[in-house]
Amino acid sequence: MQHARKTHSPRIAIIGAGMAGISCADALQRYDLAVTLFDKSRGIGGRLATRRTDGGDSFDHGAQYITTRSADFSAFVDRLRQAGAAAEWQPRLSTDASAHHAWFVGTPGMSALLKPLTQDLDIHLNTTVSALERSGNGWQLRTADGTLSESYDVVISTAPPVQTRALFAVDPAMQASLDAISMAPCWTLMATFTAPIDVDFDARRFDEGAVSWMARQASRPQHGGNQQGWVVHAGAEWSAEHLELTPEQVASLMQQELSRAIGMALPQASFVQAHRWRYAMTTQPLGQPFLASADKSLFAGGDWCLGARVECAYQSGAAMAAAVAKRLLTE
Ligand SMILES: Cc1cc2nc3c(=O)[nH]c(=O)nc-3n(C[C@H](O)[C@H](O)[C@H](O)COP(=O)(O)OP(=O)(O)OC[C@H]3O[C@@H](n4cnc5c(N)ncnc54)[C@H](O)[C@@H]3O)c2cc1C
Repeated sequence: MQHARKTHSPRIAIIGAGMAGISCADALQRYDLAVTLFDKSRGIGGRLATRRTDGGDSFDHGAQYITTRSADFSAFVDRLRQAGAAAEWQPRLSTDASAHHAWFVGTPGMSALLKPLTQDLDIHLNTTVSALERSGNGWQLRTADGTLSESYDVVISTAPPVQTRALFAVDPAMQASLDAISMAPCWTLMATFTAPIDVDFDARRFDEGAVSWMARQASRPQHGGNQQGWVVHAGAEWSAEHLELTPEQVASLMQQELSRAIGMALPQASFVQAHRWRYAMTTQPLGQPFLASADKSLFAGGDWCLGARVECAYQSGAAMAAAVAKRLLTE
């Protein structure tokens, strides 16, 4: 895509290197715009996450699979499949499961899904952005270690609403819009058992009770790890009720709840770990693809704009990229 460039090369900072941040950066690069990403984690992907144990096992403990409903996102996932970073997952489902869209996952794990898009991106990992400071018509980012970044014409936050709200103290109007959004937590159990759990499915959703989902990790394409590794999700209500327990307490309780949910004793576990997703699933979305400040120098987006799925994060990221490019390349 060719655009007339201004003499000053605009610079864009994106906070968050999950689906929204990376899809936004990927689209902005196609407009030949300079983008720098910052993420507080030590890897990319955000809730597209894979935990690897010292024993060599791995667990996709965040988003379980991706469905594509729009032509744009379908083409985006096709690109990732062609790059070898995504594949269809066809687990054996419990008999009460209904028909569903095709499920795609990252290979060899969810955290690998976006890797092909990051080769030419400038990404600063282990970098928590704690505040924004005005600098002429742009913004500088204050990071948790006290460093002040260079100046950016546009700053885009894809952090969850509560964290974006704290960052956008400089814009009370945007903060007020963020207040209307809500997200539910999810406690996740990662467990490897010393013997198979005697069930005839690889993935099961539960409509009631503490446990909402369980998935056999070995059924995922290119998984290659231990055959007896499972990821189990607790429902939003149970997760909220037990939010402030320690991971050790939750790991123990969730094994009891899993045993109750499937109606049998569990084999002994050789590895258990619980992970708390404080902001896992959007329960009340914004209802539009992103938020922008009046002067269009600040943007905020993520799945929480449109829903609770990876595709919503992609759509928000793509919409922000188009709006930012329009502002920077035409004004
Ligand atoms: C347990 C679980 C199961 C799920 N299952 C599915 C599923 O099966 N299918 C589906 O479609 N969706 C699922 N989802 C939802 C899906 O994961 C999200 O919709 C999607 O990944 C959100 O992408 P995002 O880029 O908007 O946000 P995120 O992936 O959360 O990315 C935000 C990024 O911002 C970073 N960040 C936050 N604050 C700062 C800061 N101050 N400074 C720097 N960086 C910061 C974070 O580290 C993170 O990497 C699930 C989510 C969870 C938690």
